Amino acid sequence: MSTPVVEVRGLRKHYPVGGGLFGRRRQSVKAVDGVSFDLPAGRTLGLVGESGCGKSTLGRTMMRLEDPTAGAVRFEGRDLAQARPKELFALRRDMQMIFQDPYSSLNPRLSVGETVREPLDVHSLGPRAERREQVDGLLEAVGLDPAVQDRYPHEFSGGQRQRIGIARCLALGPKVIVADEPVSALDVSVQGQVLNLLVRFQQERGLAYLLISHDLSVVEYLSDRVAVMYLGRLVEVGPRDEVFSRPAHPYTRALLEAVPVADPRRRRDREPLLGETPSAVNPPPGCAFHPRCPFAVGACREQVPELEAVGDGGHTAACIRKDEI
Ligand code: ADP
Ligand code: MG
Repeated sequence: MSTPVVEVRGLRKHYPVGGGLFGRRRQSVKAVDGVSFDLPAGRTLGLVGESGCGKSTLGRTMMRLEDPTAGAVRFEGRDLAQARPKELFALRRDMQMIFQDPYSSLNPRLSVGETVREPLDVHSLGPRAERREQVDGLLEAVGLDPAVQDRYPHEFSGGQRQRIGIARCLALGPKVIVADEPVSALDVSVQGQVLNLLVRFQQERGLAYLLISHDLSVVEYLSDRVAVMYLGRLVEVGPRDEVFSRPAHPYTRALLEAVPVADPRRRRDREPLLGETPSAVNPPPGCAFHPRCPFAVGACREQVPELEAVGDGGHTAACIRKDEI
C-alpha cells in the first residue's frame, strides 16, 4: 500500500482542570490519550464513539488547531508538531476542516463570495482578477448557483450553508479533510446530498478523510476503515465491514446494539450500554470500559489493553477477552 498522507503516532491532548491551588494535585482531562492511525489518500477513516470521548479534540489536535501534549502528526512525512509558523501556514492549504454547525462556522458579516474567496486571498492563490471566477467554479461544484455570491449566509438553509462551508474548504485544494459531524446539524432529507458531495470530491480529488460522527449509519456509509474511540483511546480499528459485522470489542458491540433497529424481527439479544460514560479526568484503571463491560474479569481492572490483531485483515481491538467472547 502507498504511504499514508497523514500518520498520527501516540497523540495525546490533556487539558488541565481545577486543582493546582493550595497544594492540591493538579488534574487533567485526558481528552486524547495515546492515539495512532494512518490516513491514506483517497480513503476515509470513520471515527465513532459517544459524546465526550475525545473525537473533536483528536480532529483539532491532528490539524494542529491545538498543540498536542505529546505525540506526532506527520503530513507527507513532515511533523506538524515541529513545524514553524510559516511552514504551518503552508500546511494549512493541505489540511482543512469541515465543522458540524453550518450556522456558527460561517462569518455572518462575509457574503457567500467573500466566504469562499477569503482563503484564496489569505494564501494569495491564483491571479486576483480570476478569483471571482474561481469562486463561481467552487460554488457550482457544490451545487450552488454562482449568482448567490453577493448574498449572506443567514439567507440560506443549513444544507446550503454546509455546501458553502465545503466550497470554502475546497478552495485551497486540500489533500486531507477532517469532517467533524458534517451532517449532524442537518435535516435527514439533506444529509445524504451532502454526504454524496463528499464522496464525489474524494473520488475526483483523491482526498483523505477523517470522518467524525456519533452516527454509525453515516460512518458505515462513507468509511473504508472505522476507528472506535472510548475515553481518549482507540479500542477497535478495522475495515468497515469487519467492524460492523464482526465487532471484537465489547464497547463496539454495545454501540452497534444501541442503534435503533428498524426491523422488529431482528431482535436484540444483548443488553444496551449500562450507565454513563465515566469521566476522562479520573478514568477507571485498567481498561476504562470495564465498569460497563458485561465480559469484564479481574485482570481488566489492572492492565490497560493495547490494540492487537483480530484475524489477519488489519482488524485490531484493545480487549484482553476479545478471542473468548
Ligand atoms: P467529542 O467530540 O467526542 O464529543 P470532545 O473532544 O469534545 O469529545 O471532548 C473530550 C473531552 O475533553 C470532554 O471531557 C471535554 O469536556 C474535554 N474538553 C474538550 N475541550 C476542552 C477544553 N478546551 N478544555 C477542557 N476540556 C476540554
Ligand atoms: Mg465533538
